[in-house]
Amino acid sequence: MTVSKTVHAGSSPAKPVHVGQPSERVAVFVGQRLIDRWRLADISREVFVMAIQKLVVVNGRPTLVDYSEPSRQERDRNYSSDRRQNRPEYTRFYSSSIWRKTRAQVLLRDNGECQHCGMPATMVDHIVPSADDWTDRLDPDNLQALCDSCHHIKTDREERAKQREVQRAMTVTVVCGYPGSGRASYVQQHEAEHDIIIDKYALMQSLSGRGKYDVDADIDDYAELAYELLLRKVKVDTRYNRVWIILAGPDTRLDSLLVSHNVEHILIDTDKSTCMDRLSKLDIDSDVVTELMRQVDVAKATNQFDKFIKIK
Ligand SMILES: [Zn+2]
Repeated sequence: MTVSKTVHAGSSPAKPVHVGQPSERVAVFVGQRLIDRWRLADISREVFVMAIQKLVVVNGRPTLVDYSEPSRQERDRNYSSDRRQNRPEYTRFYSSSIWRKTRAQVLLRDNGECQHCGMPATMVDHIVPSADDWTDRLDPDNLQALCDSCHHIKTDREERAKQREVQRAMTVTVVCGYPGSGRASYVQQHEAEHDIIIDKYALMQSLSGRGKYDVDADIDDYAELAYELLLRKVKVDTRYNRVWIILAGPDTRLDSLLVSHNVEHILIDTDKSTCMDRLSKLDIDSDVVTELMRQVDVAKATNQFDKFIKIK
């Protein structure tokens, strides 16, 4: 039999209790507000408190969480005081007129709407947190309007990810070569669990909806932007064992951009005539291919590769 009983309690209910009946449910009210629920279980006719939880509002929905979870207000306080104590430049930055101006522009650009849920925005967020990338803190591309709820969800997720991961460098393997040299097949054969692959020309192809290397000059800018954003994400990421980046010629900026990781450039050194044969079978013949081949030739002539790989 289940009995419901309401007790009025003070602010600290974190004491195990024995109550009369097995499976009895106790709801705790402070004033008229339900704040806690004790889940009770019947083990060998004894009643134990299994877990003390509290009811809080998460993202507009009532949710049961562990009693020890800090409340939103507590988290807010920790977040702000942490910033003030550890990074005095934060305080200066967030009260500067350039930040206030940028913030107003971003809110205007985003129509005052949260970019995650569409509700009225209350703040401007750094997409890549400013703690991870201080140099991008005024870049409008790295800023978005958010509401408080969505910002909390994002910050929580970022903090959990940080706690989970021990900071470590990833290996970034940049796989270069002529179009048709077999770069993608090489990566597919060598990729392992916890790897990620970024194929710049496959990205361009999927954005343009055209054939491979049949680049649409208008879409090209968008594809470059998408590639840049992926690199920016890789820059602050640590969760993969290896990041494979498939290019034609090497991207010399990667060494400095991804300086916290171990970057290596390898060349899939298939000879040009073999590549041309493969491409002509696929009916691929464009100025883009010619240009990419030229870039690879320049890089070979100037020793820009760490490793050469011959595949048959
Ligand atoms: Zn929102």
